[in-house]
Amino acid sequence: MGGTQSGNEIVIDDDWQARHLQGKEDTGSTLAHEMQHTLDRQKGLMHRDAYEGIEHVQDDPKKLEDFLSQRIGERVASEVRAYERGNAVESGKAYADDGVTTGAEARNLLSKGGNFYREHYESEMSNFPEINNKYEVTYDVDSSGQVRAHVVAKSQPISTTTF
Ligand SMILES: [Zn+2]
Repeated sequence: MGGTQSGNEIVIDDDWQARHLQGKEDTGSTLAHEMQHTLDRQKGLMHRDAYEGIEHVQDDPKKLEDFLSQRIGERVASEVRAYERGNAVESGKAYADDGVTTGAEARNLLSKGGNFYREHYESEMSNFPEINNKYEVTYDVDSSGQVRAHVVAKSQPISTTTF
């Protein structure tokens, strides 16, 4: 408890108040960040389930690459907007989406926090064993600034059967 009550008087110590106000600010930017994702889903800019429909392309590495490039690309774009909106709230500025995710913004997002997002997206493939057993999926941003998936066949264990 950071406050004390005696009779009708409520005393909140300064320390607690300072921490609370600080926390409030953080909460504001977090809410703004999540609100942007919600808006993006409502506007159809980002799928609710990024992997919806993946079963239709999982046997064709080229189609799988295009599918993953598009789906992860829209998530990266939404993260860029969400961080921009969160930062705007933190600095007390109005947020206006410029409608563009540049290659630099996408690269920064993927490598943010020691490649947190890149590794997060790549590790999500473990939820799809059929794909994960056959292919290695990695992400980068190509020279035109688009997020690209790379789907590479994993080397298969050499058969021990001899003829
Ligand atoms: Zn986010």
